[in-house]
Amino acid sequence: MAGLAEVTRDVLVATHDFCTHTTTVVVGDEGGCLVVDPGITPAELADLAEALARRGLHVTAGLATHPHWDHVLWSRALGSAPRFATSAATASAAAGRVAGLAEARSVAPDVDGDLFAVLTPLPDGVRSVPWDGPRVDVVEHRAHAPGHAALVVAGVLVAGDLLSDLEVPLLDLDAADPLGDYMAALGLLSALVDEVRWVVPGHGHVGDAAELRRRLAADRRYLDELAAGRGDDDPRLTPGVAEDWLIRDHRNQQAAVAPP
Ligand SMILES: [Zn+2]
Repeated sequence: MAGLAEVTRDVLVATHDFCTHTTTVVVGDEGGCLVVDPGITPAELADLAEALARRGLHVTAGLATHPHWDHVLWSRALGSAPRFATSAATASAAAGRVAGLAEARSVAPDVDGDLFAVLTPLPDGVRSVPWDGPRVDVVEHRAHAPGHAALVVAGVLVAGDLLSDLEVPLLDLDAADPLGDYMAALGLLSALVDEVRWVVPGHGHVGDAAELRRRLAADRRYLDELAAGRGDDDPRLTPGVAEDWLIRDHRNQQAAVAPP
């Protein structure tokens, strides 16, 4: 990763090489900080811990936006603060722990299994993260994964695995209504556009308010097309640019939600 970039005075973002995965750091009181989606490989986590130490920061809380394996890793170098997730995400991560850890180890064999998906559930209906720092609002929805949390802190929307410039919307195909859940989440996030100046996707690049509107429109269009059995022309699926797994996932969800 190329260090921590300042999105605002209180919100820093690290971008890792693997899957253009981002970590958001919210600066709190007295050198404390909240680390959201900390990174994947032990090397990435070590780099993050070093970058925090260089700024005189120590981790007082962690947060996983959702239960997928690439968002629930941790390292001893980051300390032993509670790592929050919604209660639905915590339950889902626990249920998928063995498979998730196997997937993590297929990417990075030396992942710390003892610290994998050790999450503290937020109370149901919680409005903000319980920690000593700027208010971090929690917007829970069901798109992409059970109990997915988007966060809003001082005009920055930390979107988790939604609103990416690189990835098309990826549905939770185990849900009863994957498309409906995703559309509902985009509705919740659209309601925030007047207060958001920056959007930070879990995979991809930070965007401004105009870019947030563009991504919301692009994601709605993709979902509409998908519902009609199309969607291949989304620019994020351009052959030679898109990762193979993304094109595969797109085809899978096309098959899963295609009209009869
Ligand atoms: Zn995910």
